[in-house]
Amino acid sequence: MSKVPEMFGSMVFNDKKMQERLPKSTYKALKRTVQNGEPLDLSVANVVANAMKDWAVEMGCTHYTHWFQPMTGVTAEKHDSFICPDGDQVIMEFSGKELIKGEPDASSFPSGGIRATFEARGYTTWDPTSPAFIRDATLYIPTAFCSYTGEVLDKKTPLLRSMERLSSEAVKVLQLLGKENVTRVTTTVGPEQEYFLIDKKMYDQRPDLIYTGRTLFGAKAPKGQELADHYFGSIKTRVAAYMKDLDEELWKLGVLAKTKHNEVAPSQHELAPIFSTSNIATDHNELCMEIMKKVAERHGLVCLLHEKPFAGVNGSGKHNNWSISTNTGENLLDPGKNPEDNLQFQLFLAAIVKAVDEYQDLLRITVASAGNDHRLGANEAPPAIISMYLGDDLGALVESIIEGKEYRSHDKAKMETGVDVLPDFRKDNSDRNRTSPFAFTGNKFEFRALGSSLNIACPNYMLNTMVAEELSQFYEAVKDAEDVEAALKALIKDTFTAHQRIIFNGDNYTDEWVEEAAKRGLCNYKSLPEAMAHYVDQKNIDLFVRNGIVSEAEIRARYEIELEHYAKQLNIEALTMLEMAKKNITPAVISFVRELAETVSLKKSVSASISTAAEESLLESLSEQLEAFVNKTSELESAVAEADKYSGDVLACATYFREKVFAKMEELRAVGDSMETETSANYWPYPSYGEMLFGV
Ligand code: ADP
Ligand code: MG
Repeated sequence: MSKVPEMFGSMVFNDKKMQERLPKSTYKALKRTVQNGEPLDLSVANVVANAMKDWAVEMGCTHYTHWFQPMTGVTAEKHDSFICPDGDQVIMEFSGKELIKGEPDASSFPSGGIRATFEARGYTTWDPTSPAFIRDATLYIPTAFCSYTGEVLDKKTPLLRSMERLSSEAVKVLQLLGKENVTRVTTTVGPEQEYFLIDKKMYDQRPDLIYTGRTLFGAKAPKGQELADHYFGSIKTRVAAYMKDLDEELWKLGVLAKTKHNEVAPSQHELAPIFSTSNIATDHNELCMEIMKKVAERHGLVCLLHEKPFAGVNGSGKHNNWSISTNTGENLLDPGKNPEDNLQFQLFLAAIVKAVDEYQDLLRITVASAGNDHRLGANEAPPAIISMYLGDDLGALVESIIEGKEYRSHDKAKMETGVDVLPDFRKDNSDRNRTSPFAFTGNKFEFRALGSSLNIACPNYMLNTMVAEELSQFYEAVKDAEDVEAALKALIKDTFTAHQRIIFNGDNYTDEWVEEAAKRGLCNYKSLPEAMAHYVDQKNIDLFVRNGIVSEAEIRARYEIELEHYAKQLNIEALTMLEMAKKNITPAVISFVRELAETVSLKKSVSASISTAAEESLLESLSEQLEAFVNKTSELESAVAEADKYSGDVLACATYFREKVFAKMEELRAVGDSMETETSANYWPYPSYGEMLFGV
């Protein structure tokens, strides 16, 4: 294959190709749309569409698709060919109208009851800020998705709106501070993606992985992650080949894949890209997850993106590195050399602190999912309590502002390696605390509570909106002040003072923090239903409506969709467990028990003096457990059947699944896993944890 710089972006209709293929005036008009958000003319779209089509056809494409991100949690696409009849021949055509607007039937996408089926039509609209690309002989056009009546039905639209919103509020504030040249502000995101790779042959034998993405039964292997020998460990040949292939696929699509390494759990890995603008980072992360799965197939592997595929070892998350930068190239979250004199930085920091405190519930809600319920609060991921870590330097700065004392900067400590041939270097003062869900890491914040399969559009539009709201309040508060600087200083001091409780620099994994957080009045929502109940709190509805991100009806629809989805997922998990228990595990144990019983009587028939103690004790133990297992199976079955009672109320239904059905699933699993440890491997119907986790 060609060298990386040539390979990079070869499948993308990127800026370079646009410059080469578009007339100057068209290129300029498109640029104005992308950079300044100016509306796009149909005549411009016609020219762009034609150039895109010519390029795509040269690259072997026959089809195009509007690619969008509905509320299902996965991306969607409907393919149309470029063919157009011309006499008894066809020619390849693609109009501006087709580029700008698609009309997929939206009736089967979740809408949370927002649309009646007779209004089932939906629209996809081209997002010119994210470049089109080619996959599998198809031209992919990133789009936003809304209903016929205009309601937003996707994750992308609120993100784009929130970016606009944050930009206009930040620009106003910056102009107040004398930054006349700043006309636009963009949010940037670098999502670090964790995943598991297991052998496809094992996967194919596990209905739980196939139907639910996680193992519902499985006794722990003799070895887990206790030796910490997998994290950053040498990458196995087969995995290395996969990662190489993956990098190349991503580079061709213009994804800035940068870092790859083994993660903490056996078979767990991570890929981190170089950050980009939020909406492109979102599209690229969605693409990345899809390509990860596709490339795995070519290597006889399966890529698991579930948050908790295996009990007893770490699950997978996604760190959302987030910052704000100006069109003049300034990172607004860079404290600079003297943060104590940097009013602009302090102001943005104050806005973020206030936002995270006031909307901590929304940050928790946005990372809530059935999968992430297994991680948040367990000893591996950040807790379900949202707090912020600022590091020693910024922590001291905030304290000095609150107390009106002089700030003593910590000079970056020099790291003495003590070995002459190794260079000494400066220690990074931030990012010492890996347990915080929302940590300042030098020139950006890292939101660490995301689950691995989450679409990052949601946490990012929440973040952008929250911060836009605070900036707008700040602007209103000081815009008419006689002495703007003095007013800002007072505002910053008041804000830090009022929102100190959200800052926590200690270990987030301890029980003491849970108690302390409760004293501070911080939310601690342990599961999706608990968290989601607050989605529709008035203050949250007000936030989205006031900032024009989504309407009240759309929020309520999202609330319904999330809760319904959660209940459905748990229902599928429970049904899968029942099937595994009844069709495979129970019969397998019965067969093994029978062999034990036959052995006992056979031995006894040979001679009464031969010991049958071993078989008998195993026989007794397994028979007892089997009875419990069968009872627990029917208890789970009744619990699932009872869920029907709650069908009219999504919150009650999701809560029921979490509190009752899930509890029964855990009980059934405990007995199943215990039986696995005593049943002959020849009889056990499924590959073991050891085989799956150490089999690649
Ligand atoms: P780690 O968290 O593993 O220490 P790094 O600090 O190297 O990793 O960076 C993690 C991610 O943060 C990368 O994806 C990187 O591109 C991203 N990042 C760096 N600067 C910014 C920024 N200004 N805005 C958003 N993301 C950023
Ligand atoms: Mg990180």
